[in-house]
Order: sequence, then C-alpha cells, then structure tokens
Amino acid sequence: MRVAQIGSGTPEIAVVAGVHGDEPCGVRAVERLLDERPTVKRPVKLIVANEEALERQVRFVDEDLNRAFPGSPDAQTHEGRLAAELVAELDGCLTFSMHSTQSHADPFAIVNGVSETAKEIVPQLPVSAMVETSNFAEGRLFSAVDTVEVECGLQGSETAAQNADRLTRAFLTAVGALPGDTVRRDLPVYRLTDVIRKGQADTYEVFVDNFTEVEAGDPFAAADGNEQVADEAFYPVLMSPNGYRNVFGYAAEKLEVLETPTAAD
Ligand SMILES: [Zn+2]
Repeated sequence: MRVAQIGSGTPEIAVVAGVHGDEPCGVRAVERLLDERPTVKRPVKLIVANEEALERQVRFVDEDLNRAFPGSPDAQTHEGRLAAELVAELDGCLTFSMHSTQSHADPFAIVNGVSETAKEIVPQLPVSAMVETSNFAEGRLFSAVDTVEVECGLQGSETAAQNADRLTRAFLTAVGALPGDTVRRDLPVYRLTDVIRKGQADTYEVFVDNFTEVEAGDPFAAADGNEQVADEAFYPVLMSPNGYRNVFGYAAEKLEVLETPTAAD
C-alpha cells in the first residue's frame, strides 16, 4: 500500500485508488495529484491500496479486497491484512474511492445509504446516478469507513482515467480542499434490491442497458442462449455478460431524484 499526503496537518479527507488491481484509472488520478501537488486548503491523504494486485494486473491476490473489510492484521489472506491496514489509515477520513467496471461507461456514485454527506457531495460530482447499496454492504470499504465510491467508466479505458481525474478534482473541490466551484446537478437515486445470478455456461449475453427500466416479462439476459425473463420490473445496475463470475449484476429500484435547490434571488 502506498500512502502519501498533499498539504500539511492531519487529513480528514482521503482519496483511494487501486482497491481492485485490474482498475488502473484511479491510480492515474492519484499519481497526477502527486506530480502536480496542487495547493490545498485542507490536507488530503492519497492511497494506492492493492499494489501487489496492480502489479499483476489482477482484481486481487487472494480475495476481493472490497469484500474483505474490516479485515484483521492476522488474516490468512493478503487482502484481509490489507483491509485492516487501510481501515487504520483511513480512520477519521471522509474517503473517496475509485473503481471501474465492464458494464457502464458513464460515471456513477455508489454509497452505503443516502446520508446527509452523500446528498451534499455526490450531486457536485460529474456522475449520472447515485446507487445506494446498503443491502449488499458486507465486507465493502464503506461498511468500515465513511466512503463515497465512484465507478469511473470502462475498465482499462483512457476515458475512465480521464473521468477519474475529473471526479477526484470535483470531490476535492466539493469538500473545500481545492479552490473553485462545482456544478450541482439533479441526480437520480437507485437502491440495489437483488443480485441477478447466472448459471454455469460458455456464453453470456445481456440485452438491456444499465439504469434503463426493464419491464415485467422482458428477457434481459441469456446463458448459453437460455433467456432470463424479468418477473417484475427493475432497473439493471452493474449488469454485464462477463464482469463477474457468478452474477450478471444487480436489480435496483429507483428511489427519487435529488433536485438542485433553486438559487434564491
Ligand atoms: Zn472495483
């Protein structure tokens, strides 16, 4: 794990990259901040988490780090020990953690509950949606540390790296570390309700777009040509044919749209 800091004092804000070793976009954003060392009004901790997995260009070495929190110094796995180290480093920090996916090019935010912090910060980020995943929080970083996660785009893409950079700067501006203003936008909020499993097969297909409602009776995916049909309407989130080993992705419900307050005259 690489830990660095810009600005002096004890940081209450942290930016974390490389929780997954096959998602290099956030690392680029952190390295750029370290190269440029912008003047900050609040100190910021910068962390590249799973260096071993990044070196090998794999998601993880022993187990998924984002399912291993809170971890333990005596854990049997590399990620179990790393999780505990990361929790100790992030103690007292509002944390911004960057990921990328195989399912969706547009950035969106993932939060563990629609908290006041989430409602304040996330509409100031260049994201198209906020996804609340508290039903599936077990082992994730934000079960142990106050965290806003972002999906920056498609894994390994140049666009995801550029998005990671923009998202990080917007986050640091929103929390008052970098100067300037952010743009506030109306933001739809979704809550994950179910895992969409997939059986053993040679080929997988997904027929639907993420964040676009699937109606009851519509086929939405197939394994070896066998279609899966929606029992009830849902919004697909993080759905992709081959992004995960046992699941296509998640079903979500749409909760609300966080509206930008109209400026008072
Ligand atoms: Zn990830």
